[in-house]
Amino acid sequence: MKYVVIRDDDICFFTKPEMLETLYKPLLDLGKPVTLSVVPAIHGGQSAGPLNGPFWDRFQLDYSPCLPPHKRAEAHVSPLTADCEIVNYIHSRPEYEIAQHGYNHIAIEGIREGLLTDRHLITERLEASRAIMQECFGRPSDFFVVPWDDVSAETITILKHYFKGISLHRLGQRHVSWSRKLQAIGRRFMNDRIRAPYFQDGDFLLLEYPGPILSMFNDYKGMKELTVSWLKNHDILVMVNHYWEYFWDWGEPNREFLSAWHDIAAYLLDRPDVEIISFSTLYDHLYS
Ligand SMILES: [Zn+2]
Repeated sequence: MKYVVIRDDDICFFTKPEMLETLYKPLLDLGKPVTLSVVPAIHGGQSAGPLNGPFWDRFQLDYSPCLPPHKRAEAHVSPLTADCEIVNYIHSRPEYEIAQHGYNHIAIEGIREGLLTDRHLITERLEASRAIMQECFGRPSDFFVVPWDDVSAETITILKHYFKGISLHRLGQRHVSWSRKLQAIGRRFMNDRIRAPYFQDGDFLLLEYPGPILSMFNDYKGMKELTVSWLKNHDILVMVNHYWEYFWDWGEPNREFLSAWHDIAAYLLDRPDVEIISFSTLYDHLYS
């Protein structure tokens, strides 16, 4: 059996329920889980510049693209609240699994949130974010999705106390315990096609994903081929989505991109050897 986790990032106070519903209704209506990677307290007004990758290259976008255009430059924190629109919507769809995606989703003086090294500050931010998750979802999350795909050794040491695992693009030796460093270094020399996309550091699970298969900058027709090809060589796929890319720039849906995604979702649902599961179920499976 092959296991696919569908992960959508940057869910925050500003996310509109209809955006998620447009993307995931076909899966949710069949009772399939989708993992929402939630930013507890999104922060606008933080200049990211080249950290915005293709959004900087293509649009010279200085502020985070995951905020609505009129909120991007506003230096304001917008925490989720127990009765806000998106939290109410998430409660109406029990198929969603909630993962935590950083705290404010910002870079502080050019340092990405996950790369902070001050242990006191990291702990303070984690405690504040978990209190928000507890208030909105009745419990803090078990899984952490790394903003911008990288964390410092100091951050990951602390994350291990709070979470069962993390999801990121590529793990390195600084992400694992001393006793596992050689093993982590050895993985770097393995071909992508044979390397299992996960690493068990004791009871802490690190899950890799194969880069941006689903992207508004990709060839929409090629996205399915990339999915098929990954599943040919691997038993686990964490499929990463960014809902706001389908509505760029927070307007009408991009029909071509959306239909390519729905075609991939239908393909995954159709395959008898593929099971769409949550991070929690995958964790239980790997540790059983
Ligand atoms: Zn993000």
